[in-house]
Amino acid sequence: MSEQKIEEGWGAPACSRKWHYFRADGMSLCRKIGFYMGPREQGKDDHPDNCAACKKILASLRASAPLRETRGKEDVHRRDMEATEKKDHAKAQRREGGTAA
Ligand SMILES: [Zn+2]
Repeated sequence: MSEQKIEEGWGAPACSRKWHYFRADGMSLCRKIGFYMGPREQGKDDHPDNCAACKKILASLRASAPLRETRGKEDVHRRDMEATEKKDHAKAQRREGGTAA
C-alpha cells in the first residue's frame, strides 16, 4: 500500500483563477476554498497569480513559527551578533546625526 500523503502547498482549483495555499486538510488559508484535494506545489510564494490573502497568511504563519530545534544553542551566538549590529547601527546614526550639530 503506497498511499500518497497530501501535504500543504499552492494549488490551482478549477473554480478559481488564483492559486491558493492549501493546508493538508484541503482548506485554503484564506478560507475561500475548502476540500481541494488536487496537486500542490511548494515554493513560488511570490508568484503573481497567488491569492493575496493566502500569501499574507502564509507569510505571517512562517514568521510566527520559529525553528525550535535550532534554538538554544544558537541563541548565545545570535545575541552576540545582535550586539555587534546594534553597535554598528549606533555608530552609523552618530555619523549621520553628526552633520546636524
Ligand atoms: Zn486564497
